[in-house]
Amino acid sequence: MPEPYAAALPRSAAPKPYAPDELRALDRAHVWHPYGPMPGRQEPLIVESASGVRLRLAEPVEGQRELVDGMSSWWSAVHGYNHPVLNEAARGQLDRMSHVMFGGLTHEPAVRLATRLVEITPGPLQHVFLADSGSVSVEVAVKMCLQYWRSAGRPAKRRLLTWRGGYHGDTWQPMSVCDPEGGMHELWSGSLPRQVFVDAPPDGFDAEPDPAYARRLREGIAEHADELAAVIVEPVVQGAGGMRFHSPAYLRVLREACDEHDVLLVLDEIATGFGRTGKLFAAGHAGISPDVMCVGKALTGGYLTMAATLCTTRVAEGISSGEVPVLAHGPTFMGNPLAASVASASVDLLLGQDWEGEVARIGAGLRSGLAPAADLAAVVDVRVLGAIGVVQLDHEVDMAAATRAAVREGVWLRPFRDLVYTMPPYVTEDEDVARICRAVCAAAREG
Ligand SMILES: *Cc1c(COP(=O)(O)O)cnc(C)c1O
Repeated sequence: MPEPYAAALPRSAAPKPYAPDELRALDRAHVWHPYGPMPGRQEPLIVESASGVRLRLAEPVEGQRELVDGMSSWWSAVHGYNHPVLNEAARGQLDRMSHVMFGGLTHEPAVRLATRLVEITPGPLQHVFLADSGSVSVEVAVKMCLQYWRSAGRPAKRRLLTWRGGYHGDTWQPMSVCDPEGGMHELWSGSLPRQVFVDAPPDGFDAEPDPAYARRLREGIAEHADELAAVIVEPVVQGAGGMRFHSPAYLRVLREACDEHDVLLVLDEIATGFGRTGKLFAAGHAGISPDVMCVGKALTGGYLTMAATLCTTRVAEGISSGEVPVLAHGPTFMGNPLAASVASASVDLLLGQDWEGEVARIGAGLRSGLAPAADLAAVVDVRVLGAIGVVQLDHEVDMAAATRAAVREGVWLRPFRDLVYTMPPYVTEDEDVARICRAVCAAAREG
């Protein structure tokens, strides 16, 4: 191809960097942060670069210039930062094209990724919608389910059932199935679609399943079957709704009851996918397959925003043979080649290593390193599953004090509500896992 911009390459250098104080002032004045006010009230730390499991700060904070990342940037950076393989995938794709529209066009990065996702997820999931964020993938999942029943001539089936304590994202439909109490979305309870809630599943991954609770799940689904399009839950781990673990047995109950009463089952694996809980997907703990499944977060190894909604042939054909025989959803950046290339590289990187061994190793490190937290007066529970460690307090964490305590140990943590928790990148070495645990204990003590 000719080089259309050869003559136009700018001679000027990159813009002059902001001094930290200047950057902070502009950030405060103009930039929203997650769940933040305007102008900002908390002082965010300034990250200059990141490599391996370490974030490099623009200036020392509490005597630390580098922090071990205990959060994987909210479940996503499973391979750590600045990974040569993922960099190469991005760079190679950048030289071919960053993006082209997906209407009427297709390309290898999207097709390769979708095919790979079909291969590694439960067998019946055969069709892939590439969305641009986790919340959007949940919107798409809900739209698929509602449209499936509309196409089947049963438009009254348009509500969702979920259990309390969940989190499915911040856009409208996802908000409607987030925990209705104490959650971030209480404010909107009058405006959101009214969904059917059952109690949160009893705590404990290894706990003996409670037959009375299983019965209530079945009854909830049976009672509302005529108006239910789908049941949507996070399998095994409820993440941002409270970092709670439950027995996989309840997922089998949901699968059976959904089949019995003609209700679709949506599993939101956005947080749990790609090995975090010890199985590649958390549905694997229960040996079940959903009708629709959402993945996101670790999909691109934390590089770019992309998520996916997968569905069965039954759902896809139902939609495509209906009165409006298309799924009417099509984001501008659907199938983004840059994100898709990095995602395929990230999946290959994961599956090309002993990820199960690494997740188990980190889990063992968390178990021993967090055990001392159980002796702290304010700690009510310490729990570990896969490469997730959680310390629960008897009070709301003082975020500023807890963050400071962790930073002093050289670790980045982001506690919320009564929880100090960590899900380190899978490449975190044992000494750094130990350091993260010391930081979680310090944050629990001082927060
Ligand atoms: C993070 C998350 C979402 C939302 O994903 P975004 O990319 O933040 O929109 C949805 N469901 C679960 C379970 C999540 O953890």
